[in-house]
Amino acid sequence: MTPTRHDRVVVEGKPVSPGLAVGHAVFHDAADVDVPVFALEEEDVKAEQHRLATALRRAKKQLAEVQATFESEVGKHDAAIFGMQQLLLDDPSFGKGLRRRIAEDLVNAEVAVHDEILQWVQRLSGVHTGGDRDPAADLRDVGLRLLRVLSGRPSSSGPVAKGGTEERYILVTEELLPSDTASLDRKLLAGIVTSSGGAASHAAILARGLGIPAVTGVDVARLPARGGRWVVDGNAGHVIVNPSDEDVAAAAERGRSFARLLQGFEKETRGVARTRDGAPVELLLNVENWEEVPRRVLTDLGGIGLYRTEFLYMARPHFPSEQEQVDHYVGALERMDGGTITFRTIDVGGDKPLPYLKTPHEPNPVLGWRGLRLSLEWPDLLYSQLRALLRASAHGKLRILLPMVTMVEEFRAAREIVLSIQSDLRAAGKPFDEGLELGAMVEVPALALACGPLAAEADFVSIGTNDLSQYALAVDRNNARVADLYQPLNPGVLSLIRHVVDACAQEGTPVSVCGEMAGDPEAVLLLLGMGIHAMSMSPYHVPIVRQVVAAVTRDEARAVFESAVALGTTTAIRTWVRSELLRLVPGLDPWLRVRG
Ligand code: PEP
Ligand code: MG
Repeated sequence: MTPTRHDRVVVEGKPVSPGLAVGHAVFHDAADVDVPVFALEEEDVKAEQHRLATALRRAKKQLAEVQATFESEVGKHDAAIFGMQQLLLDDPSFGKGLRRRIAEDLVNAEVAVHDEILQWVQRLSGVHTGGDRDPAADLRDVGLRLLRVLSGRPSSSGPVAKGGTEERYILVTEELLPSDTASLDRKLLAGIVTSSGGAASHAAILARGLGIPAVTGVDVARLPARGGRWVVDGNAGHVIVNPSDEDVAAAAERGRSFARLLQGFEKETRGVARTRDGAPVELLLNVENWEEVPRRVLTDLGGIGLYRTEFLYMARPHFPSEQEQVDHYVGALERMDGGTITFRTIDVGGDKPLPYLKTPHEPNPVLGWRGLRLSLEWPDLLYSQLRALLRASAHGKLRILLPMVTMVEEFRAAREIVLSIQSDLRAAGKPFDEGLELGAMVEVPALALACGPLAAEADFVSIGTNDLSQYALAVDRNNARVADLYQPLNPGVLSLIRHVVDACAQEGTPVSVCGEMAGDPEAVLLLLGMGIHAMSMSPYHVPIVRQVVAAVTRDEARAVFESAVALGTTTAIRTWVRSELLRLVPGLDPWLRVRG
Protein backbone atom coordinates (compact mmCIF):
# COMPACT_ATOMS: atom_id res chain seq x y z
CA MET A 1 0.00 0.00 0.00
CA THR A 2 1.34 3.47 -0.88
CA PRO A 3 1.91 5.51 2.25
CA THR A 4 -0.20 8.65 2.59
CA ARG A 5 1.26 12.03 3.48
CA HIS A 6 0.46 11.46 7.15
CA ASP A 7 2.01 8.01 7.59
CA ARG A 8 5.09 7.58 9.72
CA VAL A 9 8.02 6.71 7.43
CA VAL A 10 11.61 5.90 8.35
CA VAL A 11 14.06 6.73 5.57
CA GLU A 12 17.60 5.42 5.70
CA GLY A 13 20.47 7.67 4.65
CA LYS A 14 24.09 8.28 5.54
CA PRO A 15 25.07 10.10 8.74
CA VAL A 16 27.44 13.00 8.04
CA SER A 17 27.05 15.13 11.14
CA PRO A 18 26.18 13.64 14.56
CA GLY A 19 23.36 14.45 16.95
CA LEU A 20 19.56 14.33 16.98
CA ALA A 21 17.12 16.97 15.80
CA VAL A 22 13.35 17.46 15.73
CA GLY A 23 11.75 20.20 13.65
CA HIS A 24 9.34 20.99 10.89
CA ALA A 25 10.56 20.13 7.40
CA VAL A 26 11.18 22.99 5.02
CA PHE A 27 11.72 21.89 1.44
CA HIS A 28 14.08 23.89 -0.64
CA ASP A 29 14.34 23.67 -4.39
CA ALA A 30 17.61 25.20 -5.52
CA ALA A 31 16.70 25.12 -9.21
CA ASP A 32 13.56 27.24 -8.93
CA VAL A 33 14.41 29.68 -11.69
CA ASP A 34 12.73 29.66 -15.11
CA VAL A 35 14.69 30.32 -18.27
CA PRO A 36 12.64 32.55 -20.56
CA VAL A 37 13.41 32.01 -24.25
CA PHE A 38 13.02 34.65 -26.93
CA ALA A 39 14.66 35.16 -30.31
CA LEU A 40 16.74 38.27 -30.96
CA GLU A 41 17.11 40.37 -34.09
CA GLU A 42 20.62 41.41 -35.12
CA GLU A 43 20.00 44.95 -33.93
CA ASP A 44 19.08 43.71 -30.40
CA VAL A 45 22.43 42.01 -29.84
CA LYS A 46 24.31 44.99 -28.40
CA ALA A 47 21.54 45.83 -25.93
CA GLU A 48 21.30 42.19 -24.81
CA GLN A 49 25.06 41.98 -24.32
CA HIS A 50 24.85 45.15 -22.27
CA ARG A 51 22.08 43.60 -20.12
CA LEU A 52 24.33 40.58 -19.62
CA ALA A 53 27.34 42.74 -18.63
CA THR A 54 25.21 44.53 -16.02
CA ALA A 55 24.01 41.19 -14.64
CA LEU A 56 27.57 39.89 -14.41
CA ARG A 57 28.60 42.98 -12.45
CA ARG A 58 25.61 42.70 -10.11
CA ALA A 59 26.18 39.00 -9.50
CA LYS A 60 29.82 39.69 -8.67
CA LYS A 61 28.85 42.39 -6.21
CA GLN A 62 26.35 40.06 -4.55
CA LEU A 63 28.98 37.35 -4.27
CA ALA A 64 31.47 39.73 -2.64
CA GLU A 65 28.80 40.60 -0.05
CA VAL A 66 27.92 36.96 0.56
CA GLN A 67 31.62 36.14 0.96
CA ALA A 68 32.10 38.88 3.55
CA THR A 69 29.06 37.76 5.59
CA PHE A 70 30.01 34.11 5.38
CA GLU A 71 33.58 34.88 6.39
CA SER A 72 32.49 36.57 9.59
CA GLU A 73 29.92 33.90 10.48
CA VAL A 74 31.48 30.61 9.39
CA GLY A 75 35.13 31.38 8.61
CA LYS A 76 37.53 32.26 5.83
CA HIS A 77 38.08 28.69 4.71
CA ASP A 78 34.50 27.95 3.64
CA ALA A 79 33.89 31.51 2.44
CA ALA A 80 36.63 31.09 -0.18
CA ILE A 81 34.07 29.17 -2.29
CA PHE A 82 32.46 32.50 -3.12
CA GLY A 83 35.82 33.94 -4.14
CA MET A 84 36.09 31.06 -6.58
CA GLN A 85 32.65 31.86 -7.99
CA GLN A 86 33.62 35.52 -8.48
CA LEU A 87 36.64 34.36 -10.43
CA LEU A 88 34.45 32.38 -12.75
CA LEU A 89 32.41 35.53 -13.47
CA ASP A 90 35.68 37.28 -14.28
CA ASP A 91 36.99 34.48 -16.47
CA PRO A 92 37.40 35.99 -19.96
CA SER A 93 36.47 32.75 -21.71
CA PHE A 94 33.24 32.53 -19.69
CA GLY A 95 32.20 36.08 -20.63
CA LYS A 96 33.31 35.55 -24.24
CA GLY A 97 31.27 32.35 -24.50
CA LEU A 98 28.16 34.16 -23.23
CA ARG A 99 28.55 37.09 -25.61
CA ARG A 100 29.22 34.78 -28.54
CA ARG A 101 26.02 32.85 -27.87
CA ILE A 102 23.99 36.06 -27.84
CA ALA A 103 25.63 37.33 -31.04
CA GLU A 104 25.80 34.10 -33.03
CA ASP A 105 22.82 32.08 -31.78
CA LEU A 106 20.68 35.24 -31.43
CA VAL A 107 19.36 34.13 -28.05
CA ASN A 108 18.58 36.16 -24.94
CA ALA A 109 21.04 36.39 -22.05
CA GLU A 110 19.15 33.82 -19.92
CA VAL A 111 19.46 31.16 -22.60
CA ALA A 112 23.12 32.03 -23.12
CA VAL A 113 23.77 31.61 -19.37
CA HIS A 114 21.83 28.36 -19.21
CA ASP A 115 23.64 26.82 -22.21
CA GLU A 116 27.08 28.07 -21.29
CA ILE A 117 26.84 26.79 -17.72
CA LEU A 118 25.56 23.46 -18.98
CA GLN A 119 28.54 23.17 -21.30
CA TRP A 120 30.98 24.00 -18.49
CA VAL A 121 29.33 21.46 -16.19
CA GLN A 122 29.51 18.79 -18.89
CA ARG A 123 33.14 19.59 -19.57
CA LEU A 124 33.86 19.32 -15.88
CA SER A 125 32.05 16.05 -15.45
CA GLY A 126 34.13 14.73 -18.33
CA VAL A 127 37.19 15.59 -16.30
CA HIS A 128 36.23 14.39 -12.85
CA THR A 129 33.58 11.94 -11.77
CA GLY A 130 32.42 10.50 -8.49
CA GLY A 131 33.59 13.44 -6.38
CA ASP A 132 32.04 14.32 -3.06
CA ARG A 133 33.00 17.93 -3.09
CA ASP A 134 31.37 18.81 -6.36
CA PRO A 135 32.86 21.72 -8.37
CA ALA A 136 29.89 21.47 -10.77
CA ALA A 137 27.72 22.62 -7.85
CA ASP A 138 29.60 25.93 -7.88
CA LEU A 139 28.97 26.35 -11.58
CA ARG A 140 25.25 25.61 -11.23
CA ASP A 141 25.14 27.98 -8.29
CA VAL A 142 26.68 30.81 -10.31
CA GLY A 143 24.28 30.06 -13.18
CA LEU A 144 21.24 30.25 -10.90
CA ARG A 145 22.46 33.52 -9.42
CA LEU A 146 22.89 35.06 -12.88
CA LEU A 147 19.42 33.89 -13.91
CA ARG A 148 17.92 35.41 -10.77
CA VAL A 149 19.71 38.71 -11.40
CA LEU A 150 18.54 38.75 -15.03
CA SER A 151 14.96 38.08 -13.96
CA GLY A 152 15.13 40.77 -11.27
CA ARG A 153 14.47 38.20 -8.51
CA PRO A 154 16.13 38.09 -5.08
CA SER A 155 19.71 36.82 -5.03
CA SER A 156 18.73 33.49 -3.47
CA SER A 157 15.50 31.59 -3.26
CA GLY A 158 15.83 32.13 0.52
CA PRO A 159 15.21 28.55 1.43
CA VAL A 160 14.02 28.81 4.97
CA ALA A 161 11.66 30.04 7.59
CA LYS A 162 12.66 33.69 7.73
CA GLY A 163 10.31 35.75 9.85
CA GLY A 164 7.08 33.72 10.22
CA THR A 165 7.33 30.83 12.63
CA GLU A 166 9.88 30.62 15.44
CA GLU A 167 9.83 26.82 15.32
CA ARG A 168 13.11 25.08 14.61
CA TYR A 169 13.28 23.61 11.14
CA ILE A 170 14.86 20.78 9.19
CA LEU A 171 16.19 21.85 5.81
CA VAL A 172 15.32 19.24 3.17
CA THR A 173 16.88 19.63 -0.25
CA GLU A 174 18.24 17.63 -3.17
CA GLU A 175 21.52 19.50 -3.01
CA LEU A 176 22.69 22.29 -0.74
CA LEU A 177 24.51 24.82 -2.88
CA PRO A 178 27.10 27.18 -1.40
CA SER A 179 24.87 30.25 -1.87
CA ASP A 180 22.03 28.54 -0.05
CA THR A 181 24.24 27.78 2.91
CA ALA A 182 25.03 31.49 3.07
CA SER A 183 21.38 32.49 3.10
CA LEU A 184 20.16 29.98 5.69
CA ASP A 185 18.45 31.20 8.81
CA ARG A 186 20.98 29.41 10.99
CA LYS A 187 19.43 30.52 14.28
CA LEU A 188 16.48 28.16 13.85
CA LEU A 189 18.16 25.49 11.75
CA ALA A 190 17.88 22.17 13.63
CA GLY A 191 18.92 19.59 11.02
CA ILE A 192 19.79 19.05 7.36
CA VAL A 193 18.63 16.30 5.00
CA THR A 194 19.98 16.09 1.45
CA SER A 195 19.86 13.66 -1.47
CA SER A 196 23.36 14.17 -2.77
CA GLY A 197 26.72 14.82 -1.21
CA GLY A 198 28.77 12.73 1.17
CA ALA A 199 30.80 13.58 4.23
CA ALA A 200 32.85 16.17 2.33
CA SER A 201 29.89 17.94 0.68
CA HIS A 202 29.10 21.57 1.41
CA ALA A 203 26.09 20.47 3.45
CA ALA A 204 28.14 18.15 5.62
CA ILE A 205 30.92 20.69 6.16
CA LEU A 206 28.43 23.36 7.17
CA ALA A 207 26.51 21.00 9.43
CA ARG A 208 29.57 19.78 11.30
CA GLY A 209 30.90 23.32 11.59
CA LEU A 210 27.66 24.45 13.21
CA GLY A 211 27.11 21.27 15.24
CA ILE A 212 23.87 20.46 13.40
CA PRO A 213 22.79 16.84 12.80
CA ALA A 214 22.74 15.93 9.11
CA VAL A 215 21.87 12.95 6.96
CA THR A 216 22.62 12.64 3.23
CA GLY A 217 21.73 10.03 0.62
CA VAL A 218 17.97 10.43 1.20
CA ASP A 219 15.95 10.39 -2.02
CA VAL A 220 14.12 13.60 -1.17
CA ALA A 221 12.07 13.75 -4.37
CA ARG A 222 10.45 10.38 -3.72
CA LEU A 223 9.41 10.91 -0.13
CA PRO A 224 5.74 10.12 0.34
CA ALA A 225 5.07 12.93 2.77
CA ARG A 226 6.20 16.53 2.51
CA GLY A 227 6.41 19.08 5.26
CA GLY A 228 5.25 18.32 8.80
CA ARG A 229 7.41 17.25 11.68
CA TRP A 230 10.59 15.25 11.10
CA VAL A 231 13.27 13.63 13.25
CA VAL A 232 16.84 13.67 11.93
CA ASP A 233 19.16 11.10 13.46
CA GLY A 234 22.69 12.16 12.54
CA ASN A 235 24.16 9.28 14.58
CA ALA A 236 22.31 6.36 13.01
CA GLY A 237 21.86 8.09 9.65
CA HIS A 238 18.09 8.03 9.26
CA VAL A 239 15.14 10.37 9.10
CA ILE A 240 11.63 9.84 10.51
CA VAL A 241 8.92 11.62 8.54
CA ASN A 242 5.73 12.23 10.57
CA PRO A 243 7.21 10.71 13.74
CA SER A 244 4.96 9.46 16.53
CA ASP A 245 5.00 11.27 19.88
CA GLU A 246 7.09 8.36 21.20
CA ASP A 247 9.65 8.89 18.38
CA VAL A 248 9.93 12.55 19.26
CA ALA A 249 10.29 11.84 22.97
CA ALA A 250 12.90 9.15 22.30
CA ALA A 251 14.86 11.44 19.95
CA ALA A 252 14.79 14.25 22.48
CA GLU A 253 16.03 11.91 25.22
CA ARG A 254 18.78 10.43 23.00
CA GLY A 255 19.76 13.92 21.93
CA ARG A 256 20.09 15.00 25.56
CA SER A 257 22.12 11.97 26.58
CA PHE A 258 24.32 12.37 23.51
CA ALA A 259 25.07 15.96 24.50
CA ARG A 260 25.70 14.89 28.12
CA LEU A 261 28.05 12.11 27.03
CA LEU A 262 30.03 14.45 24.83
CA GLN A 263 30.37 16.94 27.67
CA GLY A 264 31.43 14.18 30.07
CA PHE A 265 34.06 12.83 27.71
CA GLU A 266 35.26 16.34 26.93
CA LYS A 267 36.34 16.77 30.55
CA GLU A 268 38.63 13.77 30.27
CA THR A 269 40.48 14.72 27.11
CA ARG A 270 43.62 16.09 28.70
CA GLY A 271 47.10 14.62 28.93
CA VAL A 272 48.73 11.57 27.40
CA ALA A 273 46.44 8.60 26.77
CA ARG A 274 47.53 5.36 28.41
CA THR A 275 46.21 1.84 28.35
CA ARG A 276 45.11 0.47 31.74
CA ASP A 277 48.51 -1.22 32.05
CA GLY A 278 50.28 2.09 31.42
CA ALA A 279 51.38 1.95 27.76
CA PRO A 280 51.27 5.40 26.13
CA VAL A 281 49.02 5.73 23.10
CA GLU A 282 49.45 8.76 20.89
CA LEU A 283 46.14 10.40 20.04
CA LEU A 284 46.51 12.79 17.13
CA LEU A 285 44.22 14.90 15.02
CA ASN A 286 43.08 14.70 11.42
CA VAL A 287 42.78 18.24 10.17
CA GLU A 288 41.83 19.92 6.92
CA ASN A 289 42.52 23.44 8.10
CA TRP A 290 44.17 24.33 11.40
CA GLU A 291 42.04 27.46 11.77
CA GLU A 292 39.05 25.22 12.49
CA VAL A 293 40.58 23.42 15.46
CA PRO A 294 40.26 25.00 18.91
CA ARG A 295 43.67 25.72 20.40
CA ARG A 296 42.87 23.79 23.59
CA VAL A 297 42.33 20.60 21.62
CA LEU A 298 45.66 21.05 19.91
CA THR A 299 47.60 21.64 23.08
CA ASP A 300 46.00 18.66 24.82
CA LEU A 301 47.14 16.22 22.18
CA GLY A 302 50.43 15.02 20.73
CA GLY A 303 49.91 16.89 17.49
CA ILE A 304 48.32 16.60 14.09
CA GLY A 305 48.73 13.14 12.60
CA LEU A 306 47.15 13.97 9.24
CA TYR A 307 47.03 17.45 7.77
CA ARG A 308 45.14 17.10 4.49
CA THR A 309 46.88 19.89 2.57
CA GLU A 310 44.70 19.44 -0.53
CA PHE A 311 42.05 21.54 1.21
CA LEU A 312 44.45 24.47 1.16
CA TYR A 313 44.51 24.07 -2.63
CA MET A 314 40.76 23.48 -2.90
CA ALA A 315 39.90 26.62 -0.96
CA ARG A 316 41.56 28.77 -3.63
CA PRO A 317 40.70 29.48 -7.24
CA HIS A 318 44.30 28.77 -8.35
CA PHE A 319 47.49 27.13 -7.07
CA PRO A 320 48.88 28.85 -3.97
CA SER A 321 52.36 30.28 -4.49
CA GLU A 322 55.30 28.76 -2.63
CA GLN A 323 55.32 31.75 -0.25
CA GLU A 324 51.56 31.46 0.42
CA GLN A 325 52.11 27.83 1.32
CA VAL A 326 55.03 28.64 3.60
CA ASP A 327 52.86 31.23 5.40
CA HIS A 328 50.02 28.74 5.82
CA TYR A 329 52.24 25.94 7.14
CA VAL A 330 54.12 28.28 9.49
CA GLY A 331 50.76 29.66 10.72
CA ALA A 332 49.73 26.13 11.61
CA LEU A 333 53.06 25.33 13.29
CA GLU A 334 52.97 28.47 15.39
CA ARG A 335 49.69 27.32 16.88
CA MET A 336 51.10 23.97 17.94
CA ASP A 337 52.91 24.79 21.18
CA GLY A 338 55.65 22.33 20.31
CA GLY A 339 53.45 19.53 18.94
CA THR A 340 54.33 17.93 15.61
CA ILE A 341 52.31 18.33 12.41
CA THR A 342 52.34 15.59 9.82
CA PHE A 343 51.59 17.41 6.57
CA ARG A 344 50.37 15.11 3.85
CA THR A 345 51.31 16.30 0.38
CA ILE A 346 48.46 17.17 -1.94
CA ASP A 347 46.08 14.22 -2.40
CA VAL A 348 43.80 15.31 -5.22
CA GLY A 349 42.26 13.30 -8.01
CA GLY A 350 39.88 10.40 -7.45
CA ASP A 351 37.16 11.61 -5.11
CA LYS A 352 38.86 14.98 -4.49
CA PRO A 353 39.00 16.90 -7.76
CA LEU A 354 40.75 20.24 -7.97
CA PRO A 355 38.66 22.42 -10.33
CA TYR A 356 41.59 24.37 -11.77
CA LEU A 357 43.81 21.33 -12.28
CA LYS A 358 42.80 20.27 -15.75
CA THR A 359 43.36 16.55 -16.05
CA PRO A 360 42.17 14.34 -18.90
CA HIS A 361 39.01 12.28 -18.63
CA GLU A 362 39.50 8.97 -16.84
CA PRO A 363 36.92 6.18 -16.81
CA ASN A 364 37.93 5.14 -13.27
CA PRO A 365 39.40 8.18 -11.52
CA VAL A 366 39.61 6.49 -8.12
CA LEU A 367 41.91 3.93 -9.71
CA GLY A 368 43.58 6.59 -11.80
CA TRP A 369 45.66 9.69 -11.60
CA ARG A 370 45.49 10.68 -7.95
CA GLY A 371 47.65 11.29 -4.88
CA LEU A 372 51.36 10.75 -5.29
CA ARG A 373 50.95 9.37 -8.83
CA LEU A 374 49.63 12.70 -9.96
CA SER A 375 52.14 14.76 -7.97
CA LEU A 376 55.11 12.87 -9.38
CA GLU A 377 54.00 13.60 -12.92
CA TRP A 378 53.30 17.22 -12.08
CA PRO A 379 56.79 18.04 -10.80
CA ASP A 380 56.21 21.80 -10.42
CA LEU A 381 53.34 21.14 -8.08
CA LEU A 382 55.18 18.66 -5.87
CA TYR A 383 58.43 20.61 -5.99
CA SER A 384 56.81 23.84 -4.82
CA GLN A 385 54.93 22.10 -2.03
CA LEU A 386 57.93 20.16 -0.77
CA ARG A 387 60.10 23.28 -0.90
CA ALA A 388 57.47 25.22 1.05
CA LEU A 389 57.27 22.45 3.64
CA LEU A 390 61.03 22.26 3.99
CA ARG A 391 61.25 26.03 4.44
CA ALA A 392 58.44 25.89 7.02
CA SER A 393 60.32 23.15 8.91
CA ALA A 394 62.66 25.84 10.24
CA HIS A 395 59.72 27.20 12.26
CA GLY A 396 58.41 24.13 14.09
CA LYS A 397 58.25 20.35 14.17
CA LEU A 398 56.84 18.87 10.99
CA ARG A 399 56.90 15.62 9.08
CA ILE A 400 55.96 15.00 5.45
CA LEU A 401 53.59 12.20 4.49
CA LEU A 402 53.08 10.93 0.92
CA PRO A 403 49.55 9.77 -0.05
CA MET A 404 48.45 6.89 -2.26
CA VAL A 405 51.80 5.19 -2.61
CA THR A 406 51.55 2.06 -4.78
CA MET A 407 55.19 1.02 -4.97
CA VAL A 408 58.30 1.76 -2.96
CA GLU A 409 59.82 3.14 -6.19
CA GLU A 410 57.39 6.08 -6.01
CA PHE A 411 58.50 6.77 -2.46
CA ARG A 412 62.11 6.78 -3.63
CA ALA A 413 61.32 9.21 -6.45
CA ALA A 414 59.71 11.64 -4.01
CA ARG A 415 62.64 11.27 -1.63
CA GLU A 416 65.02 12.20 -4.45
CA ILE A 417 63.10 15.44 -4.93
CA VAL A 418 63.26 16.16 -1.19
CA LEU A 419 67.03 15.53 -1.19
CA SER A 420 67.61 17.84 -4.16
CA ILE A 421 65.55 20.63 -2.55
CA GLN A 422 67.52 20.17 0.64
CA SER A 423 70.82 20.61 -1.17
CA ASP A 424 69.46 23.73 -2.98
CA LEU A 425 68.34 25.23 0.33
CA ARG A 426 71.66 24.39 1.94
CA ALA A 427 73.56 26.03 -0.91
CA ALA A 428 71.37 29.12 -0.64
CA GLY A 429 71.91 29.27 3.13
CA LYS A 430 68.19 28.87 3.82
CA PRO A 431 67.39 27.11 7.10
CA PHE A 432 65.37 23.87 7.31
CA ASP A 433 65.12 20.87 9.63
CA GLU A 434 67.99 18.54 8.63
CA GLY A 435 66.35 15.68 10.51
CA LEU A 436 62.97 16.04 8.79
CA GLU A 437 61.14 12.73 8.44
CA LEU A 438 59.49 11.51 5.24
CA GLY A 439 56.72 8.93 5.61
CA ALA A 440 54.31 7.03 3.40
CA MET A 441 50.64 6.21 3.58
CA VAL A 442 49.65 2.63 3.05
CA GLU A 443 46.27 2.65 1.34
CA VAL A 444 46.84 0.19 -1.50
CA PRO A 445 46.24 -3.47 -0.62
CA ALA A 446 49.19 -4.81 -2.63
CA LEU A 447 51.54 -2.47 -0.79
CA ALA A 448 50.05 -3.55 2.53
CA LEU A 449 50.71 -7.20 1.71
CA ALA A 450 54.31 -6.61 0.67
CA CYS A 451 55.23 -3.69 2.89
CA GLY A 452 58.75 -4.78 3.93
CA PRO A 453 60.82 -2.62 1.52
CA LEU A 454 58.75 0.48 2.22
CA ALA A 455 58.89 -0.10 5.99
CA ALA A 456 62.68 -0.39 5.65
CA GLU A 457 63.07 2.91 3.80
CA ALA A 458 60.34 5.22 5.10
CA ASP A 459 60.89 7.15 8.32
CA PHE A 460 57.31 6.33 9.34
CA VAL A 461 54.20 4.70 7.96
CA SER A 462 50.58 5.78 8.31
CA ILE A 463 47.75 3.43 7.37
CA GLY A 464 44.89 5.11 5.53
CA THR A 465 42.11 2.70 6.36
CA ASN A 466 39.47 4.62 4.36
CA ASP A 467 41.08 3.96 1.02
CA LEU A 468 42.63 0.68 2.10
CA SER A 469 39.12 -0.64 2.88
CA GLN A 470 37.71 0.81 -0.33
CA TYR A 471 40.32 -0.86 -2.49
CA ALA A 472 40.43 -4.13 -0.55
CA LEU A 473 36.64 -4.53 -0.61
CA ALA A 474 36.11 -3.09 -4.11
CA VAL A 475 33.49 -0.79 -2.57
CA ASP A 476 33.34 2.93 -3.42
CA ARG A 477 33.63 4.67 -0.05
CA ASN A 478 31.27 7.44 -1.24
CA ASN A 479 28.55 5.29 -2.75
CA ALA A 480 25.55 4.99 -0.43
CA ARG A 481 24.19 2.05 -2.50
CA VAL A 482 27.00 -0.26 -1.50
CA ALA A 483 27.63 1.25 1.93
CA ASP A 484 26.59 -1.98 3.69
CA LEU A 485 29.56 -3.73 2.13
CA TYR A 486 31.97 -1.04 3.28
CA GLN A 487 33.10 -2.85 6.45
CA PRO A 488 36.55 -2.04 7.77
CA LEU A 489 36.10 -4.88 10.30
CA ASN A 490 36.08 -7.32 7.40
CA PRO A 491 38.70 -10.00 8.21
CA GLY A 492 40.45 -9.33 4.89
CA VAL A 493 40.93 -5.66 5.75
CA LEU A 494 42.11 -6.51 9.27
CA SER A 495 44.61 -8.95 7.85
CA LEU A 496 46.03 -6.28 5.52
CA ILE A 497 46.48 -3.89 8.44
CA ARG A 498 48.17 -6.65 10.41
CA HIS A 499 50.64 -7.20 7.57
CA VAL A 500 51.65 -3.54 7.67
CA VAL A 501 52.02 -3.54 11.45
CA ASP A 502 54.20 -6.67 11.36
CA ALA A 503 56.42 -5.32 8.55
CA CYS A 504 56.93 -2.06 10.44
CA ALA A 505 57.66 -3.89 13.70
CA GLN A 506 60.33 -5.94 11.94
CA GLU A 507 62.05 -2.79 10.66
CA GLY A 508 61.48 -0.75 13.83
CA THR A 509 59.50 1.81 11.80
CA PRO A 510 56.80 3.77 13.65
CA VAL A 511 53.30 3.02 12.34
CA SER A 512 50.01 4.79 12.95
CA VAL A 513 46.46 4.72 11.61
CA CYS A 514 44.86 7.86 10.23
CA GLY A 515 41.70 6.56 8.54
CA GLU A 516 38.26 6.72 10.14
CA MET A 517 38.91 3.42 11.96
CA ALA A 518 41.14 5.36 14.37
CA GLY A 519 38.05 7.18 15.67
CA ASP A 520 35.75 4.19 15.91
CA PRO A 521 35.68 2.54 19.37
CA GLU A 522 35.25 -1.02 18.05
CA ALA A 523 38.04 -0.68 15.51
CA VAL A 524 40.26 1.02 18.10
CA LEU A 525 40.04 -2.05 20.34
CA LEU A 526 41.28 -4.21 17.44
CA LEU A 527 43.99 -1.73 16.42
CA LEU A 528 45.31 -1.71 19.99
CA GLY A 529 45.22 -5.50 19.88
CA MET A 530 47.41 -5.46 16.77
CA GLY A 531 49.98 -3.31 18.57
CA ILE A 532 49.13 0.09 17.09
CA HIS A 533 49.91 2.85 19.55
CA ALA A 534 49.37 5.98 17.45
CA MET A 535 46.00 6.96 16.02
CA SER A 536 44.92 10.08 14.24
CA MET A 537 41.24 11.09 14.15
CA SER A 538 38.85 14.01 13.91
CA PRO A 539 38.67 16.08 17.14
CA TYR A 540 35.11 14.89 17.76
CA HIS A 541 36.30 11.28 18.30
CA VAL A 542 39.14 11.97 20.72
CA PRO A 543 37.16 11.75 24.00
CA ILE A 544 35.56 8.40 23.18
CA VAL A 545 38.80 6.84 21.94
CA ARG A 546 40.55 8.00 25.08
CA GLN A 547 37.93 6.16 27.14
CA VAL A 548 38.55 2.93 25.26
CA VAL A 549 42.33 3.20 25.54
CA ALA A 550 42.21 3.90 29.28
CA ALA A 551 39.90 0.96 30.00
CA VAL A 552 41.87 -1.92 28.47
CA THR A 553 45.27 -3.53 28.90
CA ARG A 554 47.43 -4.47 25.93
CA ASP A 555 46.92 -8.17 26.70
CA GLU A 556 43.15 -7.80 26.79
CA ALA A 557 43.12 -5.99 23.47
CA ARG A 558 45.43 -8.59 21.92
CA ALA A 559 43.15 -11.39 23.11
CA VAL A 560 40.10 -9.69 21.58
CA PHE A 561 41.93 -9.26 18.29
CA GLU A 562 43.19 -12.88 18.14
CA SER A 563 39.69 -14.23 18.86
CA ALA A 564 38.16 -11.89 16.30
CA VAL A 565 40.51 -13.09 13.57
CA ALA A 566 39.70 -16.71 14.44
CA LEU A 567 35.96 -16.00 13.95
CA GLY A 568 36.59 -15.35 10.28
CA THR A 569 33.43 -13.47 9.18
CA THR A 570 32.61 -9.78 9.33
CA THR A 571 29.30 -10.24 11.16
CA ALA A 572 30.76 -12.54 13.78
CA ILE A 573 33.71 -10.19 14.31
CA ARG A 574 31.46 -7.16 14.73
CA THR A 575 29.19 -8.90 17.23
CA TRP A 576 32.15 -10.22 19.21
CA VAL A 577 34.04 -6.94 19.30
CA ARG A 578 30.98 -5.02 20.38
CA SER A 579 30.24 -7.41 23.23
CA GLU A 580 33.87 -7.33 24.37
CA LEU A 581 33.92 -3.56 24.16
CA LEU A 582 30.86 -3.35 26.39
CA ARG A 583 32.41 -5.78 28.85
CA LEU A 584 35.76 -3.99 29.00
CA VAL A 585 34.52 -0.41 28.76
CA PRO A 586 31.19 -0.34 30.61
CA GLY A 587 30.76 3.44 30.31
CA LEU A 588 30.48 2.98 26.59
CA ASP A 589 27.07 1.35 26.57
CA PRO A 590 25.04 4.56 26.38
CA TRP A 591 27.40 5.94 23.76
CA LEU A 592 27.00 2.93 21.48
CA ARG A 593 23.23 2.95 21.97
CA VAL A 594 23.02 6.65 21.24
CA ARG A 595 25.27 6.31 18.22
CA GLY A 596 22.94 3.66 16.82
C1 PEP B 1 42.46 7.25 4.18
O1 PEP B 1 42.32 6.93 3.00
O2 PEP B 1 42.25 6.48 5.13
C2 PEP B 1 42.91 8.60 4.54
C3 PEP B 1 43.17 8.93 5.78
O3 PEP B 1 42.98 9.51 3.53
P1 PEP B 1 41.71 10.26 2.91
O4 PEP B 1 40.52 9.93 3.76
O5 PEP B 1 42.05 11.69 2.89
O6 PEP B 1 41.64 9.62 1.56
MG1 MG C 1 43.16 8.16 1.41
